Amino acid sequence: MDVADQIKTIKEELNRLDVTLVAVSKTKSLEDIMAAYDAEQRIFGENVVQELVGKYEALPKDIKWHLIGHLQSNKVKYIAPFVALIHSVDSIKLLKEINKQAHKHNRTIDCLLQVHIAAEDTKFGLDHVELIELLRSPELAQLNNVRIRGLMGIATNTPNEKEIKEEFRELKSLYDGIKSSFFGEKPSFDILSMGMSSDYKIAIEQGCTMVRLGSTIFGGR
Ligand SMILES: *Cc1c(COP(=O)(O)O)cnc(C)c1O
Repeated sequence: MDVADQIKTIKEELNRLDVTLVAVSKTKSLEDIMAAYDAEQRIFGENVVQELVGKYEALPKDIKWHLIGHLQSNKVKYIAPFVALIHSVDSIKLLKEINKQAHKHNRTIDCLLQVHIAAEDTKFGLDHVELIELLRSPELAQLNNVRIRGLMGIATNTPNEKEIKEEFRELKSLYDGIKSSFFGEKPSFDILSMGMSSDYKIAIEQGCTMVRLGSTIFGGR
């Protein structure tokens, strides 16, 4: 199947389930992205700031660009004018910088807090204690140009579906708990970004609201 057919098939499935599709276009060409755009996909995710900026400049301005990869504070300024959602916030320091740059552009930037749920010892994402600390931090209340929209997580890269399911289940329960204790069921805390090509069906079963699919749509990298 080509990119347009793939987008149509997956969107039909996801729309029925009320799950939002982020088409992960990292390493993919402008032509590939335009094929998805012509099939009415408007949300695209990139994991490298420079690539994101280049594609933003080259492509139609009604695309909503999501940053899904690790973000260094000194690179926030390049994406602050246009980024629609940052999935990978993992410190109050980063959040403060996003707030500062958003303020310069007179914007409010939507952010997800990335939670470390995988067994693998990657350095990215907050553990539970750090997450709660960040949410309780008095500084957070002062940040008027960022809005925390929800959580993001990446499951362990394993063929063991039971393990993946457990990790997603845990993230969903954390999401529900945080929503009720910190956001008082505020409707703007409404995004649970979990699931990639290999595990999105499990993520949907466990209650995600957003999936990030690359190779399923565009083929292998
Ligand atoms: C690359 C990437 C994806 C998409 O991966 P696929 O396996 O191609 O679907 C999703 N989330 C993040 C954070 C990524 O870096």
